[in-house]
Parts: sequence; structure tokens; C-alpha cells
Amino acid sequence: MRALLIYPVFPPTFWSYEKILELVDRKVLLPPLGLITVAAILPQEWEFKLVDRNIRNVTEAEWEWADLVILSAMIVQKKDLIDQIHKAKRRGKIVAVGGPYPTSVPDDPQDAGAYFLILDEGEITLPMFVEALQRGETSGTFRTTEKPDVSQTPIPRYDLLEFDAYDSMSIQFSRGCPFQCEFCDIIVLYGRKPRTKTPAQLLKELEYLYQLGWRRGVFMVDDNFIGNKRNVKLLLKELKVWQAEHQYPFRFNTEASVDLAADQELMDLMVECNFDAVFLGIETPDEESLQLTKKFQNTRTSLTDTVDKIIRAGLRPMAGFIIGFDGEKKGAASRIIKFVEEAAIPTAMFGMLQV
Ligand code: SF4
Repeated sequence: MRALLIYPVFPPTFWSYEKILELVDRKVLLPPLGLITVAAILPQEWEFKLVDRNIRNVTEAEWEWADLVILSAMIVQKKDLIDQIHKAKRRGKIVAVGGPYPTSVPDDPQDAGAYFLILDEGEITLPMFVEALQRGETSGTFRTTEKPDVSQTPIPRYDLLEFDAYDSMSIQFSRGCPFQCEFCDIIVLYGRKPRTKTPAQLLKELEYLYQLGWRRGVFMVDDNFIGNKRNVKLLLKELKVWQAEHQYPFRFNTEASVDLAADQELMDLMVECNFDAVFLGIETPDEESLQLTKKFQNTRTSLTDTVDKIIRAGLRPMAGFIIGFDGEKKGAASRIIKFVEEAAIPTAMFGMLQV
């Protein structure tokens, strides 16, 4: 089977960093970690090609080569996902889709004509898809409520990527988050019990990236890297040694909940492993909005003190803010700006909450 993996285009937004990428001579911030994990889970006797449409178009030769086209997308990639489904169908290919957007809104890709919907987590649903193909089926939807053990997930196929186009590589240690912020789809997709890989497994992934020649930043994509503090400390203790032995080839960034500031040992370990920036979901300094959205962990201590502790530990906070909470009082943006200035946050990102 010849499988062509296509990653649809992201429209330009505040988060796509086009201008910064021009300065560092790269085309895209991060690679499609989901698709290269899919390639690792599918039968390895299959042949794979990957086209990230944020880098370039699919060539006619690639369309012709493929028996099967697999697409993965987030909701912002909706338009190009639908376009690529149509293109693949016009060329008579088997079309399968998965990822967060089809998992959350399966009707859209189905209406666009995708034959197979491989939803939820691929460790469980991709084998169902392969079995369906082996039975000669030509369509199907594969779902599960089970959460796979990610310590069994194979090393992503980083070899399929065009390395020179990316600013950073992506790697994943855990899925899931113990908190319950009501606007967040992570806990819907991955659950509230963080599942982690083993330290040895993650080091193998890093070793693979190292062997392939990668020497730039690595983004630990976990939505909350410190969701399981015990396991993350076990990882960091081994990562610290690996980084020193390899002369610190990677600089890490990640995302964490603000309770990071309450754990000095954890912050120190991150700095020792060469973690640089950490994205914090501050959301708003308005306590009523934090209570309303069940972001209780942000109300337990002063957010200014929290940011200060993280900076003093040696990590650079990037803070995410949300405008548009239900019942938001007038002047929310001004209060956020005042907070960012008082807390001396170097990078603040804004997102507008939408239905
Ligand atoms: S802490 Fe972050 S990842 Fe966890 S539920 Fe809240 S918004 Fe989602």
C-alpha cells in the first residue's frame, strides 16, 4: 500500500508567526507530529510519503503514486482539509481522515466525501482501519472511548519530514490533563488522567532526532507537560544526563499549568535540561471569569507572584490570554494589558473565545 499523508494549510493567524519565520529562514513553526505518529503505527511494510501543504503543494507525481490518502487536521485547517478530500476523490484515491477536527466534528469530512473516518486516538482506531481494508471494505468510521497506553506508541516517523522547513521539532511525552477548564477540548479528546510515555521511550525518540541530524529547538507538545508531576520528574532526571552526554543539542519549550511555580524542584530540573520558554494559560486576571470557567488552579495564588517565581527559576513565560468569556466585564483587555505589564511577561498571546 502506498500511503500519501497530507497536512492541510493553516490560514495566517497571530499563532502562525509568518514574519518571524521569515527572519529565521524557515517555512513552518512545527511539523505534523500526529501524521508521523500515524505513519509509525500503520504497517511498516507500507510505503509512505508526507506532504505538509504549509511547505509546498502535492505534486502530480505524488498524487499518481498514492493508493491511499490520509489527512489529519485541526479545525483551523478546515477549508484546505475539505479541498484536499475533494482533490483526492477526483483522482480516485481511497481517502481517510483523522485528527482533532474530524474527531470533534465528523460530519464535515464525511459530507465532503471522505471514505474512512479514523477518529479518537489512532493507537486503537488505526488497526481497526487496517483490518477493514484487509476485509475489502471501502468505507467506515472507527471510534473508541478507550484511552491507549502511550508507553506502547512507536517512535514517530521523523524521517518523513523535510527538516529544513521547520523551526522546531515536536515531541510528546503525555496526553491528558487533570484540570477541568470548561473551554478546553484537550480533556474531551484525551481525558483527565495524564498518560505518559516512559523516560527510556522518550530518550529513544530524542536519540532518533539526534541521529537524523536535528540540532534546533524541540517543542514538548503536551498540553500540560506537568500533568503527572511524578512521571515528568522521572523523565527530567534522565533527560538531564542525556542532554549533558550529547552536549545539549536541544533547547526545549513546552506548555504547563501555573502550579508549576509551586514546585521548585520541577522548575530547577527543567532548567537543567535546557528548557527555555514555557507557555502558561493565564487566560485572564479576572477571578470571576476563572471561577466561571472552572480554571480554579489559576485562583489559588497570586498570578503575578506565580509568573515571578517562574522567571526567577530561569524559565521565560509565554502567557496565553482569552477575550470573550461569558459575563466578561467591560475593560477586560485593559486589565489584561495592565497585568502583563505588572507581571513583566515578555510574550503575551491573545485568543478570542468563539462558539
Ligand atoms: S490546564 Fe490547560 S490543558 Fe488542562 S484543562 Fe486547563 S486549559 Fe486544558
